[in-house]
Amino acid sequence: MGAREFTRGRRVVARLPHGGDLLEEIAAVADAHGMRAAELRAIGALQTARLAFYDQAAREYGEFPVDAPVELVGLLGNVSRRDGSTAVHAHATLAGHDGACVGGHVAPGCVIFACELILQELVGEPLERVYDEVTGLPLWHGL
Ligand code: ZN
Repeated sequence: MGAREFTRGRRVVARLPHGGDLLEEIAAVADAHGMRAAELRAIGALQTARLAFYDQAAREYGEFPVDAPVELVGLLGNVSRRDGSTAVHAHATLAGHDGACVGGHVAPGCVIFACELILQELVGEPLERVYDEVTGLPLWHGL
């Protein structure tokens, strides 16, 4: 286990633009407010979505499309740094017209219909992602 303490910084509330890419727009809000680390949550609706499942044996993500309008029931995640850029890591629960849900790791290609985002800044030492040999994932370094 590794852990480090952060303090709460600013809280930013944003309405993300219709038609934008979910991950890109969250990163843009973090960048616009100079947030290098944050926790995030959001609700809203997507026009279409792409989620992923990490195959632990193959050590690779398998992406799957959700080619329908869906409710963004919940988006949880965080903002940190990777290779000098803002890295958004988020998991989504999506519901279709009958309420049935799918979920997974958010991939590029989630097109926003409407989205209400709250970013809670985490103030402390830089939170950087580095490739982890054990899992094959870019995990937080120094924790
Ligand atoms: Zn993930």
